[in-house]
Formats: sequence, C-alpha cells, structure tokens
Amino acid sequence: RLVDVTKKFRQIGGSGEVIAVDNVNLSIESGELVTLLGPSGCGKTTTLRMVAGFESVTSGKLFLGDEMIESVPPNKRDMAMMFQSYALFPHMTVYNNIRYGLKIKKLPEAEITQRTNQIIELMQIKGMENRLPSQISGGQQQRVALARAVVIEPKVLLFDEPLSNLDAKLREYMRDELRALQKRLGITSLYVTHDQSEAMAISDKVVLMNAGRIVQVGTPLDLYNEPATLFVAEFIGKSNFLPCEIKEKNDDGIESVILGARITVPSPGKNFSFFKGEATAVIRPEFIRVLEKEDGQFTGVVRKTVFFGNFVEYEIEIKNRIIKVESYCPLEKKIYQVEDVVGIAVNLDGIRLLKNN
Ligand code: ADP
Ligand code: MG
Repeated sequence: RLVDVTKKFRQIGGSGEVIAVDNVNLSIESGELVTLLGPSGCGKTTTLRMVAGFESVTSGKLFLGDEMIESVPPNKRDMAMMFQSYALFPHMTVYNNIRYGLKIKKLPEAEITQRTNQIIELMQIKGMENRLPSQISGGQQQRVALARAVVIEPKVLLFDEPLSNLDAKLREYMRDELRALQKRLGITSLYVTHDQSEAMAISDKVVLMNAGRIVQVGTPLDLYNEPATLFVAEFIGKSNFLPCEIKEKNDDGIESVILGARITVPSPGKNFSFFKGEATAVIRPEFIRVLEKEDGQFTGVVRKTVFFGNFVEYEIEIKNRIIKVESYCPLEKKIYQVEDVVGIAVNLDGIRLLKNN
C-alpha cells in the first residue's frame, strides 16, 4: 500500500526540483496483478523503485501487509524484481542462475535443490538446466529470469517493462505466459509498462499515471468503457472526440447537440456529473456503423478505406470533421469506397460525455 507517496529529484546542475511522483495513493490486494501505465517520464519506474527500495521516498508511507517498509533495505523487503534485460548471470548455467537467490539466503543444500527442481518443473524449463543463458532463446531466458525471481518465494514481484526487448509475436506469447504463471502462483505483482494493450491484456487493475500523478485506477474494462477524463480516453484505445453542447437532463438521459444533431445520451458515463454547456462526446470507432446513404443520425462522405481482414477502418467526413469507424465482419457487408456518401449510425449507449480540458 502506498500512502501519499512523493518523490522529488534535485535537477542535475540546476537549482530546481523534479516532482517525479506526486502524492500517490494506491492499494494492491494480495494475489493481484496491478499495472502502472502511462507515457514516458510519468513516474512509473520511480514508483516501482521506491516500492523495491532502490529509491527512497521523499515523503509518504509504504506498507507490506501491516509492516511499514520505507526504511527497510531492499534485500529485506521480501520482493523480487524482473528487469527489462533479464539480468541473468551470463557465466552461470540456468540451474545455478535459478538457485542463486536461495544460496544467498544460506538455506540448507537439500532445500535449495528441492526448491530449484520444483520451480524448474513448474516453469517447464527441464532439459536446459546445464545451458548458459546465451544458449537458450529470448523467451526461455525470460522464463529462467522469472524462475529465479519466483524461487525465493517473495511476497511481491515487481516488473519494469519486462517484454519491451522482444519482437511483437514473442512479446504477446510471453505476456500471456507470464500472466498465466502469475495467476497460477498467486503472487502479488506490480507491473510497469507504457503499452496500453499490454496493460489491458494482463492486469487485474490498471493505474493510469500522467506527470507523476494517478489519473484513474480501475479494471481494464472500466478504463476502456468509463474514462474519467479526456486523457484516459485518449491514452486507452482509439476514440473520436466530438464537440458537444450539453442542454439539459431528462428521464431518458442527457440532451445534447453533437455535430449539429440533437442527441439524447442515455449513459453519459459512471464518472459524469451533470453540467450545461460545452463538452466533448467520446465515441469509440466500433460504436459507429456505416449505412447505405441518408440513414442514421448523420450523413458523411468516405475519405479513407483500409481493409484489415477482420475489420475495415474508415475515415468519414461529417461537417468538416473526420470520424474514425471500425466495421467488423466485412464478409457479409459492403465495403464502402472513397467519395461514397453514407449514413452514419452511432450506438447511443457507447457515447460518453467528458469535460473539456
Ligand atoms: P517512467 O518510468 O514513467 O518513464 P520515470 O519514473 O523514469 O518515468 O521518471 C519520472 C521523472 O523523474 C522524469 O521526469 C525523469 O526525468 C525524472 N527522474 C527519474 N529518475 C531521476 C533521477 N535519478 N534524477 C533526476 N530525475 C530523475
Ligand atoms: Mg520507466
């Protein structure tokens, strides 16, 4: 648990300070995988390093269970960290890499052997115990690094962008494998990434950060469907941002004018509290359908068509604005072409209303 955690760095050569982490409050439940997500420089690594103890907190408190840990040295915190480069010892065999942490702990030899063999079994790295890290693949190296972290049975596993060195295919594979293992072992995990799709795919909870602060915490589904701010809607998934005038509230929803059309928005969002005036309507591309002309709430002109196989991406001009649409199952449907005049139907349940920045 992080309570009012702040980290300030003194600027090198300068007189000022950088507030890298700004009053962060966060609870991670036992067995959960929680991801810190956000753009480069938003304070993810610094937060993780404070949890690990590699960086001191400027102010605030850290708890592991009921124990206050901000002055406990890193090797006494009962955590293990997995880095971007797996940091395996290159001159040690896979077997010795894995048992290293147990040797440091000076456990009895019989127990070291038993636990090492158990984790080798569990992680399915049997048969490569006597190889050096350079003699196994990137994916296998990652599994060994994970085995080495897990074998000491830490209370918490920490990950800092562990997949960013891998190519796209292996990254997806390792992502799913890592998540499956984490669930199987039930190890509480704090994971850092700047990749929103990776965060969505593996997390119980996502913590979206910007400029040192937490912007929103929620399940992946919540962050996608109920963005609290325009920043969240922009960072997670794709969206259309349309100027909107909020008129009034009635039993059917929020009366508003979006691109000149009068629309009652039935579910403006869990985080919406009523106000009148200028706002932004956020609409995901999959909540918009392209129709044979003059149907739906709007009429537009197709400006771009890209066929991706499982869906078609359109850019459609409505009133001098470009709207992005994703249309699935094109097999059964017509693919519209540039210059086609089309009708646009928005799924009203998919519209969220947010305050302008
Ligand atoms: P992220 O991991 O989200 O990319 P970091 O936590 O690495 O972000 O950095 C957050 C901010 O703190 C950045 O502005 C970065 O330049 C600054 N920062 C990080 N480490 C140091 C340091 N040791 N000294 C000074 N500034 C730092
Ligand atoms: Mg980082």
